[in-house]
Amino acid sequence: MTARVASTEPTRQTVYTEAMEVFHRAADLIGLDRRVRMELEEPDYEHIFYVTVKMHTRLTPLAAADQPRYKDLPDSELLPDGLEPLLDGSFVFKRRALINANVFMRDGVVRLKGKGLYKVVPGRPERFKAYRVQHNQARGPYKGGTRFHQDVSLDLFKVLAAEMTWKTAIADVPFGGGKGGIKVDPKTLSSEELEALTLRYMYRLKPLIGPNLDIPAPDVGTDGTIMGLLLRQFTDGERERHSLRGVVTGKDTRIGGSEGRVKATGQGLAYCIQEWYADRGSVPAGSSFLLQGFGNVGSNAAEILAGMGSKLLAVNDAGGTIFNPNGIDVPDLVSYVYDNPSNLRRTVAGYPKAEQISKNDLWDVDADILIPAALGAEITGPVAERIKVKLVAEGANGPTTPEGDRVLAKRAIELIPDIIGNAGGVTVSYYEWIQNKRMEHWSETEVNGRLEQAIKSNYRIIRDIARNTPRRTATHNSQRYCIGREMDMRTAAMVLALKRIEAHYQLEGFSQ
Ligand code: NAD
Repeated sequence: MTARVASTEPTRQTVYTEAMEVFHRAADLIGLDRRVRMELEEPDYEHIFYVTVKMHTRLTPLAAADQPRYKDLPDSELLPDGLEPLLDGSFVFKRRALINANVFMRDGVVRLKGKGLYKVVPGRPERFKAYRVQHNQARGPYKGGTRFHQDVSLDLFKVLAAEMTWKTAIADVPFGGGKGGIKVDPKTLSSEELEALTLRYMYRLKPLIGPNLDIPAPDVGTDGTIMGLLLRQFTDGERERHSLRGVVTGKDTRIGGSEGRVKATGQGLAYCIQEWYADRGSVPAGSSFLLQGFGNVGSNAAEILAGMGSKLLAVNDAGGTIFNPNGIDVPDLVSYVYDNPSNLRRTVAGYPKAEQISKNDLWDVDADILIPAALGAEITGPVAERIKVKLVAEGANGPTTPEGDRVLAKRAIELIPDIIGNAGGVTVSYYEWIQNKRMEHWSETEVNGRLEQAIKSNYRIIRDIARNTPRRTATHNSQRYCIGREMDMRTAAMVLALKRIEAHYQLEGFSQ
């Protein structure tokens, strides 16, 4: 066994060093070549840059203490179409609000009819911190999502980029790992500001990425619309712009996106859960599950699992938590969250056909499966002590802390680790990228058929590594990857990733 490489820097526990614990554990187990370990221990490149955007004029609610001074201010009538409501209670002011308007303003304060007093805050430029971490490209171009969220950091993007290196290796797609985004809460921006920010981000990013170099995709806070903007900004004015369509994945199907991509991560997770049951001679029908996060991954996983006959009992998201012991009708909840224009936060909170409970109570609900599909580090040690499920199936990236892992193992709660659990997204991103290269468009049946085969065969290899049962079947071959001893599923997944990455260094050698 190789001893762990001594770092030249003093050891400081960060989210990155913590996330790398499993890497070091697996690297020790397989005796990973010392130089390969050093190549993988830190990212190839860490880009930090700034993006400035001109913000629009806003009408923000006047502080309560200042309100008495304006009690005699008459109502102003502005065209509602010209006022875009934001989640912080303010409005973005657009010039068309003044068409046929009746405005009474004093010291920059107006009273909006039926809404109250607002202060006019003139538009001005703002600066946002942006990132792109390119972790490793031994197996192919860097690949990974774009996150727009207020709680991002370089350390977090390093974790997520490294995860992509492992995930692309586990999914056996010819990519490396990357991740990036902007420190911003997109819900506090108008649609035009978000567009401007996205375009400016790509303007800065363009020299660093490309369809054969680094390929972003959606992640928390971004979607197919944002991918369309990134695509346009990257390809604008290029002579062969259609050949560059593969610069981002997760696009709308009408502009080169793949069928099945939107659902792919939830679909991949459902295939893993199906395989977990198949291994026990059973099916998901008749089981029950809890969900954290009702965004892309969570809502799609829920719809697919419900379609397989599993019952959703409770959901927690950023807005609240709901519970119904008789089961929640998933398509109805999807329509409450996504088809209801007054549900600005797109939250499950307030869903009338379920009880509103606290987030803490979620962990006490008895169910077969818990699916974390929101942010990282949610299943901590204390949460892992509380939950009453048989299986944790990770849809989110890094939802379980190392301490949470230890408690789950102690309590014999089984785990489908994130790097295979949510690998469906990047697998179909690869199909999208191939379709773009070949100028093809595959059917959803073809995409899902390939995805099922890819996810289930790699899941079986990981399970064989964990149980140390090397075998070659019609669907998979784990002989090359089992290492002569048993281990937990998370370490097994990492062993598979490292063995696949190491092969490139062993067989291709190092450029000097
Ligand atoms: P999303 O933005 O569509 O949804 C995020 C969900 O998490 C929302 O329901 C939100 O309310 C909830 N949430 C946010 N903060 C929360 C909090 N503090 N507590 C509880 N819930 C909270 O994002 P997504 O694309 O569904 O991604 C979810 C997770 O899956 C992320 O960890 C992401 O990295 C991972 N992931 C996504 C994909 C993909 O294809 N979209 C692929 C692989 C991994």
